[in-house]
Amino acid sequence: MYRVTDRAPSWNGWEPAARPPLPAAARRELTRLFGSWPAPTPPVPLADVTLPGSALPDGARREFVAALGEEHVTTDRTERIRHAAGRAYLDLVRLRSGDAGGAPDAVLRPADAEQIADVLRICVGRRVAVVPYGGGTSVVGALAADRGDQRAAVALDLSRLDRLVALDRVAQTATLSAGMRGPEVEAALGGLGFTLGHFPQSYRYATFGGWVATRSAGQASTGYGRIDELVHRVRCVTPTGELDLGRGPASAAGPRLIDLVVGSEGALGVITEATVTVRPVPAARRYEGWSLPGLGAGLEAFRALAQRLGPGLAPDVCRLSDPDETRTTFLLGGTAARLARGYLAVRGHGAGCLAILGWEGEPHLVRYRRRAAARLLESYGGVPLGGTPGASWRHGRFGAPNLRDTLLDHGLLVETLETAADWSALPALYRAVRETLRAELGRVLVMTHVSHLYRTGASLYVTVLGVRDRADPVGQWTRAKRAVTTTIQSYGGTVTHHHAVGVDHRSALADEIGERGVALLRAAKAELDPTGIMNPGTLVP
Ligand SMILES: Cc1cc2nc3c(=O)[nH]c(=O)nc-3n(C[C@H](O)[C@H](O)[C@H](O)COP(=O)(O)OP(=O)(O)OC[C@H]3O[C@@H](n4cnc5c(N)ncnc54)[C@H](O)[C@@H]3O)c2cc1C
Repeated sequence: MYRVTDRAPSWNGWEPAARPPLPAAARRELTRLFGSWPAPTPPVPLADVTLPGSALPDGARREFVAALGEEHVTTDRTERIRHAAGRAYLDLVRLRSGDAGGAPDAVLRPADAEQIADVLRICVGRRVAVVPYGGGTSVVGALAADRGDQRAAVALDLSRLDRLVALDRVAQTATLSAGMRGPEVEAALGGLGFTLGHFPQSYRYATFGGWVATRSAGQASTGYGRIDELVHRVRCVTPTGELDLGRGPASAAGPRLIDLVVGSEGALGVITEATVTVRPVPAARRYEGWSLPGLGAGLEAFRALAQRLGPGLAPDVCRLSDPDETRTTFLLGGTAARLARGYLAVRGHGAGCLAILGWEGEPHLVRYRRRAAARLLESYGGVPLGGTPGASWRHGRFGAPNLRDTLLDHGLLVETLETAADWSALPALYRAVRETLRAELGRVLVMTHVSHLYRTGASLYVTVLGVRDRADPVGQWTRAKRAVTTTIQSYGGTVTHHHAVGVDHRSALADEIGERGVALLRAAKAELDPTGIMNPGTLVP
C-alpha cells in the first residue's frame, strides 16, 4: 500500500548535512562554566575507519542468498560500518575516532516474516548471531554485534518491512510493519485521516518495530500514550516459531503475554508487525509556553495537571525544564528569547522554569482542556508566554541531535539519561542525580526536564555537557553512568523510563526485577531462542 524511501542517519552522527553553528553566547557561557574551551575533535573520514574482516562462513552466505536474493545480502564495508552501532554518546565517540569494532559480518534485508523465519533457521544451523536492526537509533548499546558463543553476527535490517498492513476505521486501529520510520508511519496514516501520535525525538529515523521493541515514549505520550499502551496485538518470529499475541481491546486470558514481546529488544525474536490504537488527525492544535516561578512550584503544578485534571484532560504534551535547562534554552533562542527572559525577571521568575504545553483534538475540547490547565498553572504562580515558545519548540523538536554533532566536533562530552519515579520521590532523585554527575565529572552543565506525566509520578530526562577526557572518553562516561545509575536506583527511580535496557543497563536490571525476575526472562529466552542467536548480550542478564 505504501512504500518507504530508504533513509538513515549519517554513519557517525545524525542528519548528514545539518550541523548548526554554536551561538557565540552559548560558547561564552560554557567556557565560563568549564573554565576553558577544549580543542576541536573532528571525526575521521569514513575511509579511515578500521573494520575487522567479515567472519561470515561461505556456506551461511550461500544459504542467505538463496533465501533473500543476492542484492539483499551484503558484506559491503560501508554497509557494515553503518550498522555497527546505535547513536549513544559512546557509539559516536567510537565511530568518530574510526572504531567500527561493533560491525556485523553481513547485513541482511528480508522482505517479510517468511524470509525472517528462513534467516533465523539458517542462523541456528550455522551458529550466527542476529541483531534485529530498525532505525539504528538505540542509545543503550543494543546494536553493536556481540557474537556471544556464535561464529559470526548479522544485522537484520528491517527497512523492507515497510507497509501499512491494515486500517480499521471503525475500531480505530492500524496494523503496521516493523520497518516503517516515523515520518512514513505518519504519512501513511495521515493520508487516510489518522495519526499514531508517537513522536520521540528520534522520530525521523526510528522505526515502528524499534519503538515496540524498546517500549518507547514520544513527546506527546502524556496524551496519546506510550507505545506499550497503544499496542493491541503483536507478531514476532522467534527461532522456535511465531508468536501472535493480543485479541480485542482488553482480555483476562491470563498474564498479558504481549508484554513479553513489547520491550524484548531483539533478544527473543523479530517483531514483524503490530496493531496499535490510532486517532483521527486532530482538527485543532494549541502549543504554548508558560513560566513557573521555580522547580518546586513547577513540579507541584505538573502533579496537579496529572492528578486533578484526570485521564484525557491533562495536556497531551507536558514538558517542564529546570532552571539550568531554561537558562540554556533562552541563551540559544536569540533576541525574542532575551526579551522574554527580561520580562520574566521583572515578574520574579528570574530563576524560573520554562514549561511547554500542547493540546490536540477537537477544537472545543482543546479550548476547554487548555482553560482548565491554565487555571491550575496560574494557581501555582504560572505566567503564560503565549503561542510563540510553543510553536518554536514544535518546529525545532527533532533538531537537537544535530546540535549534539556540533558539540561533539568541539570536543565536548554530550549525553542524556532518563528515569521515572513517583511524585513523592522525584525532588530528592532530581537533586541526587545532579550531585552525582557533578561529583563524577567536575565542572559540567546538567539540564533536566520532566517530559511524561502519570497520575503517580513522572519521568526525568537529563542532558549532560562537559569537557571530554581526550585520553579516556569511554572510561570517563562509563564511570559517571555507573555512579548515576546506582543513585537513580537507590532513590527509587527506574533504570530506564523509555530508552530500554540494551547492554548499558543490563547489569542493573537484577536490582529492578530481582533474581526471580531475571530467571523468568532467561526461561523465556531459553524457550524461544534456545541456541542464543538473538541479539546476544542485550537485555537478558
Ligand atoms: C537523538 C535521539 C533521540 C531519542 N529520543 C527518544 C525519545 O524521545 N523517546 C524514546 O523512547 N527513545 C528515544 N531515543 C531512543 C531510540 O530512538 C528508541 O529506543 C527507538 O525506539 C529505537 O528505534 P529504532 O527503530 O531506531 O531501533 P534500533 O535502534 O534499530 O533497535 C533498538 C533495539 O530494538 C531491537 N529491534 C529493533 N527493531 C526490532 C524488531 N522489529 N523486532 C525485534 N527487535 C527489534 C534492536 O535489536 C535493538 O535491541 C532517542 C535516540 C536518539 C539517538
